[in-house]
Amino acid sequence: MSREDYEVVIGLEVHAELSTKTKIFCSCPTEFGGEPNTHCCPICMAMPGTLPVLNEKVVEYAVKAGLATNCEISRDSKNDRKNYFYPDLPKAYQISQFDKPLCEKGYIEIETEEGTKKIRLTRIHIEEDAGKLNHDEYGRGSLVDLNRAGVPLIEIVSEPDLRSANETEIYLRKLKSILEYIEVSDCKMQEGSLRADVNVSVRKKGAKEFGTRTEMKNMNSFRSIVRAIEYEVERQIDIIEDGGKIEQETLRWDDVSGKTFTMRDKEDAQDYRYFPDPDLVAIRLSDEYIENIRKALPELPESRRIRYLEEYKLTEKEARILTSSKYLSDLFEEATKISNNPKAVVNWILSDISKTLNEKELEPDQIPFTAENLAELIALIEKGTISNTIGKKVLAELFENPKSPSKIIEENGWVQISDESAIKEVVLKVLSENEQSVADYKAGKEKALGFLVGQAMKQTKGKANPQMLNKMFIEELKK
Ligand code: ADP
Ligand code: MG
Ligand code: ZN
Repeated sequence: MSREDYEVVIGLEVHAELSTKTKIFCSCPTEFGGEPNTHCCPICMAMPGTLPVLNEKVVEYAVKAGLATNCEISRDSKNDRKNYFYPDLPKAYQISQFDKPLCEKGYIEIETEEGTKKIRLTRIHIEEDAGKLNHDEYGRGSLVDLNRAGVPLIEIVSEPDLRSANETEIYLRKLKSILEYIEVSDCKMQEGSLRADVNVSVRKKGAKEFGTRTEMKNMNSFRSIVRAIEYEVERQIDIIEDGGKIEQETLRWDDVSGKTFTMRDKEDAQDYRYFPDPDLVAIRLSDEYIENIRKALPELPESRRIRYLEEYKLTEKEARILTSSKYLSDLFEEATKISNNPKAVVNWILSDISKTLNEKELEPDQIPFTAENLAELIALIEKGTISNTIGKKVLAELFENPKSPSKIIEENGWVQISDESAIKEVVLKVLSENEQSVADYKAGKEKALGFLVGQAMKQTKGKANPQMLNKMFIEELKK
C-alpha cells in the first residue's frame, strides 16, 4: 500500500501555565526565571505537615478558558493526587484532576483548506506544574530547581479529531490565540508556558478502529511539532508496511537529529493510583459565579476579526492574519490609535514585520519594539522626514536595537534630503553621468526616468526625497 492509503490521527494534551500572580496552592510568585529555589516555600517544596490551599484565581482562569472554548462547566469538581516519582516532584504525587475536571465537552473551530472544522475538546482540568532539573555542568548529576513547582496549569485535552500536521498547527495557533485573548496565560512557548503532548497514530483509510498511538512529550515550538508529526507518521507507516506492530509508548523528539526516541512504555491511569486529595475541599461552583465570568469574557478573535472589517475596512485576509495573534492585533490597534493610519499599520505588520518574524523564527509575542515605535516610524514617513526605503532600514534596526525611530535616524544620519539645492546637485550629477539614459528618455523611453531616479537614490544611499527627485529630473530633462 502507499502512503496515500493511510489516514493520520492526532490528539493533543496542551499544558498552559496560568498567569496568576501566585502559585496554585501557596502564595509564592509564579514569575518565570529567578535564581534557583528562590520562589519557593515549605508548601511547594513539599515539607511534611504543610497544607495546600487552592488559589481561587486558578479556578476562575480555568472556567474562563472553558467558556471561551465552548465547554460545559462542572458545578461539582475536585482535586486528585496523581502518584508518580520523579526528582522534580518532591511530593511524589502531582495534584491534578481525574474524573471530575472543571470543564468538559468543548470545541474549537479552525479554518482549514476544506473549510471550517470543529475540533472537540474532551476536557480542561487544573493541575500543578513540577520543578525543573538542571544538568550540572561538571557532569556530577542533576540539580533541582523548584521555582516552577506549584505554578498553576490547565491541561486542555482534544479528541483525536486532527488529521494532519498542518491541521495540528492551525488548531494549536487558534488555541494559543484564544488563551492570549482571555489573558489566562502568556503562552510563551519559548519559556515553556505553553507545551503540548502530541499523540499520533495512523490507520488504513476507511478503518473503523484507530491505530495504536505514540505520544511525544513536552513539545514547545510549532516547527518541531510539525516536523515531529511528519517524522512519526512516516516511521509508523514504515513499520506497518514491513508487517510490524506499533508499540504504544512515550517518545522524545530530538530537534537536532530530527528523530523520535523511546522514553518509556506508556503508563495507564491505574499506574498513577489516582485518589481524591484529602487535604483539599471539593470545588462547588454556583450558576451565578459562572455567569459572572461569562459576562466578563473579553472580545475573542472571531468577533475582533468581524469588527476589523467594519471599523478599519480591512480585507478578510488582513483581518484574519492580524487577529490570529492577540499580540499582532494589539500592536495593530495601539499603533493605529496613535498614527490614525490603519492601512499603513496593517501594511507594515503584514509585510516587513511578518517577514522579519519568519526569518528570525520569532513569534509575535517576541516583537521587541512598541506600538509607539511603529506609529512614530509611520509618522516620519508621512512627514517626509525619511523615505519608505529608509523606513525599512529603521524597522530592521527596531528589531535589533529597539528605541525611538527618530533617534535611530539621527544616530545613523538617515534624515531624508529634501533640500532643493542638494537634490538639484545630485540630479545634475546623475544626468551628466548617464548620457545614454538621457537620450533614451528624450527618444520617448519613459523607463529611463526610473533608472535615473534609482541612480540618484543609490548616490544618496536612499536618503533623497523620491517625489522631489522625480519632479526635478523631469524639469531638467525638459530643458
Ligand atoms: P493519556 O495520554 O493521559 O492516557 P488519553 O488516553 O485520554 O490520555 O488520551 C490523550 C490524548 O490522546 C487525547 O488528546 C486523545 O485525543 C489522543 N488519542 C487517543 N487515542 C488516540 C489515537 N489512537 N491516535 C491519536 N491520538 C489519540
Ligand atoms: Mg497523555
Ligand atoms: Zn510556595
